[in-house]
Amino acid sequence: MTDAQQWVEENMGGMLTRYPIRRLLYEEQTPFQRMRLIESEPYGRMLLLDDYVQLTEKDEFVYHEMMTHVPMLAHGNPRHVLVIGGGDGGILREVCKHPGVEHVTLAEIDGRVIEFSKAHLPSVSNGAFDDPRVEICVGDGAAFVKNTTEKYDVVIVDSSDPVGPAQVLFSKEFYTDIRNALAPGGVMVRQTGSTFLQPDEQKQAMEILSGVFEHAALYLFNVPTYVGGLFSCVFASDTLNALTTTVETLQERAAATKLAGRYYSPKIHVAAFELPGYVRENIAR
Ligand code: SAM
Repeated sequence: MTDAQQWVEENMGGMLTRYPIRRLLYEEQTPFQRMRLIESEPYGRMLLLDDYVQLTEKDEFVYHEMMTHVPMLAHGNPRHVLVIGGGDGGILREVCKHPGVEHVTLAEIDGRVIEFSKAHLPSVSNGAFDDPRVEICVGDGAAFVKNTTEKYDVVIVDSSDPVGPAQVLFSKEFYTDIRNALAPGGVMVRQTGSTFLQPDEQKQAMEILSGVFEHAALYLFNVPTYVGGLFSCVFASDTLNALTTTVETLQERAAATKLAGRYYSPKIHVAAFELPGYVRENIAR
């Protein structure tokens, strides 16, 4: 790399990661956040919001598959789905792969992320924004769940970390409103950050969600550009204990859906809920 090399730097809990910029493709200060799209090495196009890596073309499939197919296949017959955040369309893309889905609503606070992603990151949504089952609501996701009268089988909270506009998406009130918006048998998942760099996010989420839902369980996977080792999500439901769904059941459902994940599989689904001791200790404290 020459001295003139430009870098983009992410500060995650004091750990700095730098990615060489081949090209700065787009930059905008929206009413909510600073949005940048760069051509990076070695991850291809990379979206940053307020200097945090949101996704890269190379590894986004891991996160979007695990955030979507774990709740969808665990539920078994999701027809109405709500995505909160997710303005890049990656979760929408994966939800639309389920033929049983009749309607999916995306509640994204920043319409510029949607427009930007359609124009500059089309591979992520891969046409999902034009799927007739998709409804886009631009606005605060917390207000959406508080006011909706709809009932959802699966709610996927695909928000940024608890900074800026996303802070409201980490409160007990928000989770209680989601619980009220779930249909019987409904499931909610949300990302809860790096198990090494953001353990407090998992601890707080499990404390709050265990007080709102009958069942709450962490599951883990690795996304290289979500630095800090294993990345986590929480699966919460009043009726469905994530730890009891069998590989055989998931295999039947995945086969019926003709789902072929590049990361997700029924065996990885079940294994993802097997927590290492350091994670169990953190959420048990
Ligand atoms: N899908 C990406 C990934 O692979 O991790 C990251 C998530 S997505 C870019 C995060 C989205 O949450 C952003 O588009 C942001 O505008 C949105 N967001 C933040 N706060 C929100 C709120 N209160 N209501 C709805 N959307 C919100």
